[in-house]
Amino acid sequence: MNNYNSKSMKAEEFISHEEILDTLKYAEEHKNDIEAMDKILERARDCKGLTYREAAQLLECDDPAINDKIFSVAKEIKEKFYGNRIVMFAPLYLSNYCVNGCRYCPYHGQNKHIRRSKLTQDEIKQEVIALQDMGHKRLAIELGEHPTMNPIEYVLESIETIYSIKHKNGAIRRVNVNIAATTVENYKKLHDAGIGTYILFQETYNKKQYEYLHPTGPKSDYAYHTEAMDRAMQGGIDDVGCGVLFGLNLYKYDFVGILMHARHLEDTYGCGPHTISVPRVRPADDIDPDEFDNGVPDDVFKRIIAILRIAVPYTGIIMSTRESEKMRGEAIEIGVSQISGGSRTSVGGYVEEETEENNSAQFDVSDRRTLNEVVDWLIDKGHIPSFCTACYREGRTGDRFMSLVKTGQIANICQPNAMMTLKEYLEDYATEETKTKGLALINERLAMIPNEKVRQLVEEHLKDMDEGKRDFRF
Ligand code: SF4
Ligand code: SF4
Repeated sequence: MNNYNSKSMKAEEFISHEEILDTLKYAEEHKNDIEAMDKILERARDCKGLTYREAAQLLECDDPAINDKIFSVAKEIKEKFYGNRIVMFAPLYLSNYCVNGCRYCPYHGQNKHIRRSKLTQDEIKQEVIALQDMGHKRLAIELGEHPTMNPIEYVLESIETIYSIKHKNGAIRRVNVNIAATTVENYKKLHDAGIGTYILFQETYNKKQYEYLHPTGPKSDYAYHTEAMDRAMQGGIDDVGCGVLFGLNLYKYDFVGILMHARHLEDTYGCGPHTISVPRVRPADDIDPDEFDNGVPDDVFKRIIAILRIAVPYTGIIMSTRESEKMRGEAIEIGVSQISGGSRTSVGGYVEEETEENNSAQFDVSDRRTLNEVVDWLIDKGHIPSFCTACYREGRTGDRFMSLVKTGQIANICQPNAMMTLKEYLEDYATEETKTKGLALINERLAMIPNEKVRQLVEEHLKDMDEGKRDFRF
């Protein structure tokens, strides 16, 4: 029986197994309907998004002309919404103690040979200074789930520490938080601590597979995990970040699942996910490489990203350093709007060099370039690396943010903010070569700001920065 109900508060009804299977069957049966596919893509140009069924149909299609069109429409939508800015962030691992038994993660509680550690507040300070010295302004904090080692009080204290550190011209202006599913009460506390986005990956939406992958620990409760975003919203957090770990399950199933989740949030709270992350499984300590073999091929992965861009145009798409420079370069053209740079995926990794002996990384990083190298590369590609955190600091979160995005006005804000925060980066952290190229790009893009008043203001602020002033935003 199909029990699908997008507004239900029960995980198994807003993510309906039967509805997903029906959707996949429909997509398979209609995959040669080129005319219908073309119409879907034409309609998508209005940037109103797609249903999960339409998106599944596009993903199933192997017609070369339709595929080309998927990429060109995705690119068009991305440029319309976000211009050419790419937002930069870094993960900060606070603790890898974890009581869960996730089969694909080296932090699982049964792994006895990985080095366990948890940063003290003083160590957090050192890590944050190292991140500020690189030029980062936006962090995502990551912790395993452990009731005594990583209680909510530790998370809150750490957030306070991070926000309090002002080193030279540095500051962390937005802390996104990736912690285990928790209670409404704890989400309220996170909200009051001034977090940006609450991030929680579903890993897979397939309940049976989810239960196999999470045999022990609190995370084994599929419904509690899947309903976490609802509790976060009820706790006042209106920017939530979803994601699946591609390669854990049938990717088509999870692709429909994540869009169904987005629809649930939109239908229930009037606001879909702020971001969607697209990690793929990577090799890691104590993880069976035969079981998790990065099962989504590159060409399919790129189609997933492009169709997500078309299906939920208002949602940022995040790609981490799990992916190679090549894949990241392609992904930012077709949908990805936020990437990490210079990342360390181990506890304390920004201060202490990761070595064979002390490595406690959650996964192998594929893109090992420094932040400056990533910034330089983006500039060469004509993208503006942005260190902007303006929306959340100006109270533009949740539906206020979404209405700006949906009307396309966000591009008028993102572009100036990207230029001004890039200028900050260039002045304070970049190599001379990157600085020269970056300033030239800012000059070139400045002339393209359509609103004269905004252009003048940006010009003034850029000059103010030459005199040492910082932190301008729209
Ligand atoms: Fe723990 Fe998260 Fe790793 Fe699971 S994925 S073992 S919850 S750190
Ligand atoms: Fe993000 Fe808002 Fe800044 Fe654009 S203006 S980069 S949406 S924070």
